[in-house]
Order: sequence, then structure tokens, then C-alpha cells
Amino acid sequence: MKVGVLALQGDVREHISALNECGVEALPVRTALEIVTIDALVLPGGESTTIAKLARSFDLFDLISGRIKDGLPTYGSCAGMILLANELVDGAKGQETFGGLDVKVRRNAFGRQVDSFETDLDVSGVGSVHAVFIRAPWVETTHGDVEVLAAVDISGVSHPVAVRQKHILATSFHPELTGDNRIHRYFVTEICSN
Ligand code: GLN
Repeated sequence: MKVGVLALQGDVREHISALNECGVEALPVRTALEIVTIDALVLPGGESTTIAKLARSFDLFDLISGRIKDGLPTYGSCAGMILLANELVDGAKGQETFGGLDVKVRRNAFGRQVDSFETDLDVSGVGSVHAVFIRAPWVETTHGDVEVLAAVDISGVSHPVAVRQKHILATSFHPELTGDNRIHRYFVTEICSN
């Protein structure tokens, strides 16, 4: 199995190391030829507007969006979650997403006070994870068969920060930055291998 990490912008290397630790071949992908040959895709953390714009200008946008919708196992962290959302709140003007995940995502959701923070989270199917949030989104609403794997409570309101829908996994936080590869392992064993 070959997992491609979309390498237009963002923390690509960290995802590749985490995937390698899980025993799979992982490579940076940035051309159509590379994207058609991968068996799974990771959309890294970074800046969702930049990644979407670069995908458009390199003529990769529809290919990526189409492959995700056709069932390519895909994991997105932070900016990657935003790029997977079918609907955005507080996106930049005209911001596009690849879509595929039937959720509404709020970009930069946690606001100034808690712009970036770390917390321990219970992630269903994974266990307790130390989660790093950096100008992170949250999931505002879920539809259909989207499963909430973890949520953060803010002022008594629970906001999903890890979700799965069939072949798509998304987290608001960055497991690639903590050296704990269990989220990547979940992706590889529970999503890519099915
Ligand atoms: N705020 C960024 C965005 O909108 C995401 C931040 C991140 O990936 N750490 O794309």
C-alpha cells in the first residue's frame, strides 16, 4: 500500500514519518501522475486556503476531489479537515474545499483566547491522546453516517474534533506533531485496510 501526503504546503514530513512508523510506504505527492497511483491520501496541517489555491493552479483540484469522493481512504489533520468538509463556516472569501466529508466545519473556531492549546482527549477506537490544536477548526454539524470520535467541551457545549465517515478520517488537531502515531495507525488499520 502506498500512502500519498499532499505536498503543496504544510507539515508533510511529519505525516510521512508517522506513517512510516506504522509500517506503510508513504511519499509526498504533488503531480497528477503521483495522485492517480496512490492507495490512500493524507491532507496535512498547514493553511487550507493556500493548499486549495495551489491545487487549483496546478490543475489537481478536481482529480483530488474526485478520488476522495470515489472512495480513496483519506485522512486530514487541521487544515486537512477543513479541506475535506462539504461545507465551511468562516472560510476565506471564495474558499474552496475538496469535500467528501458530510460535515459543516468552522475554520479558526477556537478564537483568540484559546487560539492554540494542548489537551488530553479520549478518541473512540484509539484511547487517550495528547492533542495539539493550532488555529484549529471544529466540526459545527454532522450529517448522515458521520461518526464523532472525539469532542472538546467549550463552555458546556461539545464540539467534535475527530470524525470519521466511511473511508474519511479528520481531526482538528495534529497527531503528526506529537510523536504518538496511534491516530495514523487507526487510519492505516481501520480505514485503509478495509
Ligand atoms: N487555520 C488554518 C487554516 O485555516 C489551519 C491551521 C492548521 O492546520 N494548523 O487552514
